[in-house]
Amino acid sequence: MSVPVLELSGVHAGYGPIRALKGVDLRVGEGEIVALIGCNGAGKTTTLMAISQVVAPTAGAIRLRGADLVGLPVHEVVARGVCHVPEGRRIFPRLTVRENLEMGAFLVRERGRIESRIEEVFGIFPLLREREGQLGGTLSGGEQQMLAIGRALMIDPAILLLDEPSLGLAPLVVRRIFDVVASLRDRGTTVLLVEQNANMALRLADRAYVLETGVVTLEGTGKALLADPRIREAYLGE
Ligand code: ATP
Repeated sequence: MSVPVLELSGVHAGYGPIRALKGVDLRVGEGEIVALIGCNGAGKTTTLMAISQVVAPTAGAIRLRGADLVGLPVHEVVARGVCHVPEGRRIFPRLTVRENLEMGAFLVRERGRIESRIEEVFGIFPLLREREGQLGGTLSGGEQQMLAIGRALMIDPAILLLDEPSLGLAPLVVRRIFDVVASLRDRGTTVLLVEQNANMALRLADRAYVLETGVVTLEGTGKALLADPRIREAYLGE
């Protein structure tokens, strides 16, 4: 089997005495969309933060195309192509849409490449082109989420980590965000998606993992997990 884009083995991490991750194993292959689902407090956000090295893992390995990320500074993890869109769409409210995108390209030196990435992001999100000069803070919640994802795409990431992109958005807007993530797969972007909306996430994902109190308890294709009675009962409200 080829080297996965991302592989976690036996990852432990926490906050002082709180052990949020207790040996997480997961892998994301090239071009895959992998979902991580689970209840509040299961450790989903911590898993993404451990990958980004925002929270330092205390044990285990996190490999990006075979190279361990554990212990690297956060900016180096980004430079290697791990782009994290945190929960709550932290865009720059006082910068325009275009300036927000330019900030996403802080690692890109050539102006020409920045312009071509902006064009590519506008191709994915035509709405952002229309709002190019508008201040980020005046966009709707869904538009801000698109801007946050667009900004992450400015460095052409090896893997995109998306934390709860549907949080606080109306159902119709959630659908649009999920459509966009599906279109990223068509472009070959590799995605690890954290979601509480298990139904939408499993429909979209090639594969998924279920996290419960810091360990993976189930894994399978999105389709298989959607049909699994344990998932239907615990996460789909049936
Ligand atoms: P949610 O969907 O609510 O964001 P989650 O699955 O992402 O949940 P985490 O946020 O990773 O879960 O939390 C895992 C555990 O770590 C929980 O017990 C939580 O209370 C704890 N935790 C998270 N952040 C911190 C923090 N900054 N300080 C202390 N404990 C934390």
